[in-house]
Amino acid sequence: MTHCPYCALQCGTQLSQDNGAVRVRPTDFPVNRGGLCQKGWTAPALLDTPDRLRTPLIGGKPADWDTALDTVANELRRIRNEHGPDAVGVFGGGGLTNEKAYLLGKFARLALGTSRIDYNGRFCMSSAAAASTAAFGLDRGLPFPVTDLGDADVVLLAGSNVAETMPPIMRHLDGARLIVIDPRHSRTAERATLHLRPVPGTDLAVALGLLHLVVTGGWCDEAYIRTRTTGFEDARRRAIAWWPERVEQVTGVSAAALRDAARLLGQARSAYVLTGRGAEQHSNGTDTVSAFINLALALGLPGRMGSGYGCLTGQGNGQGGREHGQKADQLPGYRMITDPLARQHIAQVWGVPPETLPGAGLSAYELLDSLGTARGPKGLLVFGSNPAVSAPHAGHVIDRLSALDMLVVADFVPSETARMADVVLPVTQWAEEEGTLTNLEGRVLRRKRLRPPPDGVRTDLEILHGLAVRLGEPETRYPTSPRAVFDELRRASAGGKADYSGISYARLDAGEALHWPCPDTGEPHPGTPRLFLDTFAHPDGRARFVDVEHHDAAEAVGPDFPLYATTGRVLAHYQSGAQTRRIRELAEAEPEPFVEVHPDTADLAGLREGDLAEVRSARGRMTARVRLTGTLRLDTVFLPFHFPGDGSANRVTNAALDPTSRMPEFKVCAVRIGPAEAG
Ligand code: SF4
Repeated sequence: MTHCPYCALQCGTQLSQDNGAVRVRPTDFPVNRGGLCQKGWTAPALLDTPDRLRTPLIGGKPADWDTALDTVANELRRIRNEHGPDAVGVFGGGGLTNEKAYLLGKFARLALGTSRIDYNGRFCMSSAAAASTAAFGLDRGLPFPVTDLGDADVVLLAGSNVAETMPPIMRHLDGARLIVIDPRHSRTAERATLHLRPVPGTDLAVALGLLHLVVTGGWCDEAYIRTRTTGFEDARRRAIAWWPERVEQVTGVSAAALRDAARLLGQARSAYVLTGRGAEQHSNGTDTVSAFINLALALGLPGRMGSGYGCLTGQGNGQGGREHGQKADQLPGYRMITDPLARQHIAQVWGVPPETLPGAGLSAYELLDSLGTARGPKGLLVFGSNPAVSAPHAGHVIDRLSALDMLVVADFVPSETARMADVVLPVTQWAEEEGTLTNLEGRVLRRKRLRPPPDGVRTDLEILHGLAVRLGEPETRYPTSPRAVFDELRRASAGGKADYSGISYARLDAGEALHWPCPDTGEPHPGTPRLFLDTFAHPDGRARFVDVEHHDAAEAVGPDFPLYATTGRVLAHYQSGAQTRRIRELAEAEPEPFVEVHPDTADLAGLREGDLAEVRSARGRMTARVRLTGTLRLDTVFLPFHFPGDGSANRVTNAALDPTSRMPEFKVCAVRIGPAEAG
């Protein structure tokens, strides 16, 4: 068995070959139970996509590997010598295997000596990671197996359209009454018992209002609050000021609907609160998630069997990708880079003095924003990411990428970022390589190789090894075998928050279900499918209420830009679309960018169904086909972000950052719309 190459559900699949054609079928792996979405079914087409990269490119021209790696290493050395180690940067991805993520972080800190590394997961779930760490002392997307959701009475989905983003998970939600918080009447909202449609950017006020009603309705779990938490009184006092009518005024969610939602939650036998990007991708994303966690804590859900709070991580290895040192502020094992003990431990595993490890770097958008400036990198290596499409304020990011002395992209398709690169390094992809990923429930999974990669293609590990050696690093410091890298990763993670030391390829290959933490205790540790049942990860064992207050989105609507734009994913596409736009069935299902607009709003803007509209914000413009949607809020338009160029939603999005997580505010910005010809 192996797993789908796309989202964090990591559906189990069986691959076979028939006359050279790869076929996929779902397995009864617990998260998908025989189901796959259309992305998973069509994934084999990715292996033979006609424009698959098969040879290194320098300045767009084919080159041999030695020349390509020499060129990159020489230029990295020149930049470093002239401007210092932080003049080279690394941008990773949440789809990279655990082994790649780990070795990329080590390569950046040792071979390059740079602090300038971060990854696209910063755009994905960093607000939930920060809020979970503050509340529980530990962040693992779902601290329980997905299958536990099957017993839920009520599930609150705050800003998550799982019916499109990870459809097989709906099998686990069939028996639950769903409360969906989303400005759109998404496919998930169609299945909901209750759909709350707040003004974009006001989710935090909705959460405060729900906590108010849980408190005043007498639905707080007093014994749980007393014995398992701290900080309730401040959170309670804050929420008391958010009575339903005030919430209605700020959010547009009716007081009656809010009361219904609180009653459903308060009277539920078992309940889950789950957050997605809709709650997280805000300039107050961390506080927003904290407000939903406060609600869950008041109801006594986290750490109770059959109930809980969780974040629905998005990218394939969104969980593992954040644990092994790709983040600007973290070292492997989910350790903070500023922690002296963490530095000592990792330095010892890496065989270097702790003082040689660089400090914390810049978050993803700040790193991109600094490229080519006096304070930022002049050279950038991109692995497994397409920031020219996926970053906010994409026009600006493209300008910054263009200002580099050298852009190097390792990818298996010519993504929009790869097309800008001075050097392109073609890499293997899922069914051609070995490794591990960690899905949204913290379960470590084996990726299995079905067939060899095309001639001319190398693994990311081989590329990092080749570059490191050219930069003067010892050969043995950068293994090219995934198993050897994983064994080192186990040692690096030992004693950390995300402890993998008791997990081995042999145990995974034997079919064991292992969720971290899984320490090496001398005996085979069973892993930890459910966290927090007895104690939370703070030193006193208690969860923390975090006192948070609503504040408005960074950008307000006004006469020039009277509508809110919010972005998201659609069923047929994944992330920047670099992979799924190349698959015929998916491209036919969703061939072009569109903008969902309420018919009355479209009428006022002079737009009809199928017209080409221009969407303009203070930062840029994009064009998209009008899709009239009567269930959308009148003041909101929706843009899928999977498309490049003129159709790129991120040309209008706002890069205002959450002060804690540094997550950009993808989910709300002010725009106006009109016929594209008016442009
Ligand atoms: Fe499953 Fe996600 Fe792949 Fe769809 S994209 S098949 S939900 S892992």
